[in-house]
Amino acid sequence: LSTDSEVTKREAESISRKTLRSNAEKFEFQAEVSRLMDIIINSLYSNKDVFLRELISNASDALDKIRFLALTDKEVLGEGDNTKLEILMKLDKEKKILSIRDRGIGMTKDDLIKNLGTIAKSGTSAFVEKMQTGGDLNLIGQFGVGFYSVYLVADYVEVISKHNDDIQYVWESKADGSFAVSEDTWNEPLGRGTEIRLHLRDEAKEYLEEDKLKELVKKYSEFINFPIYLWASKQ
Ligand code: ADP
Ligand code: MG
Repeated sequence: LSTDSEVTKREAESISRKTLRSNAEKFEFQAEVSRLMDIIINSLYSNKDVFLRELISNASDALDKIRFLALTDKEVLGEGDNTKLEILMKLDKEKKILSIRDRGIGMTKDDLIKNLGTIAKSGTSAFVEKMQTGGDLNLIGQFGVGFYSVYLVADYVEVISKHNDDIQYVWESKADGSFAVSEDTWNEPLGRGTEIRLHLRDEAKEYLEEDKLKELVKKYSEFINFPIYLWASKQ
């Protein structure tokens, strides 16, 4: 038997080693999604910046959704920080983690499993086909699979999410054909929304530079109706 704090400590250590949580439920990516991820992870595509455009666009969509629901039911926004419809980015230079968090609608456990892995959209195979015939990876968002572009820069990704209708869950994957979902007992409560944590590959360290991020955020936030804040640890 082990105490809660021992379990939590072990979990923290395992996350920093980039190994999936051992108590998590494991899932296989739908075959076409798996193929798509292989293409992305092995891509020599040099314009890796697109991943940030896709994450900002998803955060903005999630904020739009909760704002829309709030038009007819103000209660859904909750109180305190939960009412702030914003996007927060954070750099952890030491751990080489870039996080992007929104206070949008969030995802339930079921949403995480379906939206990020087991249900292939029609665009998935269309995009795989395009890529096999020399298509431009920059178009990924138009095929409805923009999320997976995170694997251009990361080799391990955690998606922590809290939806009003569920408890906080974490989705994690090293893009090796499977992903894991578990109740989030380790991170701070999000209140509501989603935090995507990118454990950056060595070749993608440039995304830990404040100036680089500022430039990209400026470029991609032009048509975003929510404020984006960047928080960088000193070092
Ligand atoms: P698209 O945005 O075109 O639907 P993506 O691959 O970018 O495709 O995202 C897949 C799905 O994952 C989204 O449709 C949405 O349901 C879910 N999702 C991704 N990011 C978020 C987020 N930040 N908040 C809530 N849901 C998200
Ligand atoms: Mg998207």
